[in-house]
Amino acid sequence: MRPFTYDRAEDVTLAARAHTGQGQTDAPVQFLAGGTTLLDLMKLDVLRPDRVVDITPLKARHSEIEVTSAGLRLGALASMASVEDNPEVKRAFPAVAQSMALAASPQLRNMATLGGNVLQRTRCPYYRDPSWAECNKRKPGSGCAAIKGFNRQNAVLGVDDRCIAQYPGDFGVVLAAFGAEVEVAGPGGARRIPFHTLHRPAGQPHLEHSLQPGEVIIAFRIPGGATARRSLYLKVRDRQSYEFAIASAAVGLDLDGGVVKQARIGLGGMAYRPWRAEAAEAALVGKPLTEDSAHAAAEIALRGAVTHGHNDYKPELGRRTLVRALMQAAKMEA
Ligand SMILES: Cc1cc2nc3c(=O)[nH]c(=O)nc-3n(C[C@H](O)[C@H](O)[C@H](O)COP(=O)(O)OP(=O)(O)OC[C@H]3O[C@@H](n4cnc5c(N)ncnc54)[C@H](O)[C@@H]3O)c2cc1C
Repeated sequence: MRPFTYDRAEDVTLAARAHTGQGQTDAPVQFLAGGTTLLDLMKLDVLRPDRVVDITPLKARHSEIEVTSAGLRLGALASMASVEDNPEVKRAFPAVAQSMALAASPQLRNMATLGGNVLQRTRCPYYRDPSWAECNKRKPGSGCAAIKGFNRQNAVLGVDDRCIAQYPGDFGVVLAAFGAEVEVAGPGGARRIPFHTLHRPAGQPHLEHSLQPGEVIIAFRIPGGATARRSLYLKVRDRQSYEFAIASAAVGLDLDGGVVKQARIGLGGMAYRPWRAEAAEAALVGKPLTEDSAHAAAEIALRGAVTHGHNDYKPELGRRTLVRALMQAAKMEA
């Protein structure tokens, strides 16, 4: 690991003085929350910050879990374990609790925070190994080794010929599906942004997110209601535990006598960034939720998928995962 300066930010105002760059994946100043992504990537020599600003003191004010009829407000410094274990979250918003419980390992979930989770970096092997010269995410303009390489885990939605990195997180898929908002605080004060604008689309792979320099995420707001109560997160992976998704679906249904009033669909393991399938949601509305209507929605959700050989299996796995999630959600007591 390379030498760096370590500072502690006792509050948001001090954190906001950090010059954290315009969303670059390798910004020279990085916040340290649980450290489970950051320190990993520093040891691998992928991230090389000059300065690390420890924001764990912010836990005192920004780790609360609020469950109201309007939905959830989750402090960004809350640990994944604290959300997973919260009985009110489990009842009001099963998909949120499940997206935590199915991620990583208990030890990691005790350390890892929600803010760090959504900003974790891709697990693309060519990004995580600096001995590969070609990686537009690490080195703009160098190319993408994954396109012609071993791309079994890589993304099929939202990709282009510059980068096919897969967004690896679970919680972000739920946030995308349910139209969450992100509360941030920074040099310009506090603001809220729609979650779907937090992660940048493909195009400039070395730019990860849309936060301004010094902005720190302090909370997530996720709308509640009938789709939240009848929600689930289904994760498919190579082994049953301690593994990233090769396909996942976050779904929520509001049903009236078996007919869909509203649907929420997010896809994981498939896309360049947390992915909401809005056209598939719309296709379900007004129809009875059956195997046929679920299959039709899944066709729409994976339309436009682009594969590169080793990941040719993904669109079909994505469709089947979504159908299974929808059928399971339909059977839930809500
Ligand atoms: C072996 C392993 C398996 C894993 N499996 C899964 C899995 O199955 N599913 C899954 O979803 N995740 C998985 N993870 C990822 C893990 O969940 C993340 O590493 C963790 O959530 C990151 O949170 P953190 O608090 O440790 O972030 P850190 O490592 O401290 O920070 C990560 C990044 O986010 C930035 N950051 C952190 N907090 C904030 C904030 N509040 N505001 C602005 N920027 C911030 C930091 O500057 C840094 O760039 C796995 C990790 C490992 C090591």
